[in-house]
Amino acid sequence: MLSRCSRTFTFSAQLRRLQSTLVIAEHNDKTLTPITGNAVSAAQQLGGDVTVLVAGTQCGSVAESVAKLKGVSRVLVAENEAFKGFIPEAITPLILAAQNQFKFSHIIAGASAFGKSLAPRVAAKLDVSPISEVIAIKSADTFVRTIYAGNAVLTLKAKDPVKILTIRSTNFPMATDGGSGAVEKAPEGDFKTDLATFVSQELTKSDRPELTSAKVIISGGRGLKSGDNFKLLYDLADKFGAAVGASRAAVDAGYVPNDLQIGQTGKIVAPELYIAVGISGAIQHLAGMKDSKTIVAINKDPEAPIFQVADYGLVADLFKAVPEMTTKL
Ligand SMILES: Cc1cc2nc3c(=O)[nH]c(=O)nc-3n(C[C@H](O)[C@H](O)[C@H](O)COP(=O)(O)OP(=O)(O)OC[C@H]3O[C@@H](n4cnc5c(N)ncnc54)[C@H](O)[C@@H]3O)c2cc1C
Repeated sequence: MLSRCSRTFTFSAQLRRLQSTLVIAEHNDKTLTPITGNAVSAAQQLGGDVTVLVAGTQCGSVAESVAKLKGVSRVLVAENEAFKGFIPEAITPLILAAQNQFKFSHIIAGASAFGKSLAPRVAAKLDVSPISEVIAIKSADTFVRTIYAGNAVLTLKAKDPVKILTIRSTNFPMATDGGSGAVEKAPEGDFKTDLATFVSQELTKSDRPELTSAKVIISGGRGLKSGDNFKLLYDLADKFGAAVGASRAAVDAGYVPNDLQIGQTGKIVAPELYIAVGISGAIQHLAGMKDSKTIVAINKDPEAPIFQVADYGLVADLFKAVPEMTTKL
């Protein structure tokens, strides 16, 4: 019995050594996007070597910071004008070249707009199924993801020779510093593409924390009744140093821009504190915030579904309750 156990252990230890994962770094040529740190820790859970691919136009400093993440054994850097704008049509052939050279068992990206546009393309080229929005790793071939807008949890076993995953940042810890990976050149090639051309981008500038990494989020819904009334939430958010989010109804009504949308078709967040103001709690909204550590709901309707997921609920008129909270804080 004892010997069978030890054989099993040796076998699984060997299997873990056979794993080698490529993490696709997300960055803006200057700083690393935090979701890459979550992807690195997901890769560590698989065991084996972790290589990170940093592709950009001038991304040497990003590669250096990636190399310092604990668990990263190698960083492949690719600097090429073709990667301007980080278009998936240009980065995919680079990933395929790296895969061809190193034969990774897993390729991981964050489940962000960047990762979501890359993973299916790479998977199609490798003729395997992408596994999206993974929330837990059970073993090298068994993964957990949510389905039906977060209403059911699916555990799946992937038989593909290469597993292509996108991971939800909120479900994996951030990799810490303390590593010393080797920085090497990625495979070279002509990565220019006619399929898509990067023209320009306009990024919203905000002094507030980014929604997906904020510790506190104050979110407003249709109950706010106008964009001007969101000022109530911004005033409250200032007291917490919080980010402001919104329901899709508030976005669709034009109260706030759509990069504030939280939910199934918006951003997935899991802050320490989520305050939902004038939000009913439709399943599509809950899909984006129900993993928050503490949920507070302010709604004048005691039957609003948001109260079913809230740790603290206040049945009140938001136009009275929110200014009172702001004054008292
Ligand atoms: C495919 C699909 C994808 C979707 N994706 C998303 C998504 O990503 N994110 C998302 O949020 N939704 C999404 N939705 C829409 C979702 O179904 C709901 O319509 C939406 O979340 C409702 O937003 P809301 O709670 O702000 O508005 P409502 O449902 O209208 O709720 C407003 C709430 O405000 C309360 N209220 C009103 N006045 C006051 C007051 N003075 N004081 C206190 N409370 C007040 C009301 O009691 C009510 O509960 C999606 C829908 C579909 C079909």
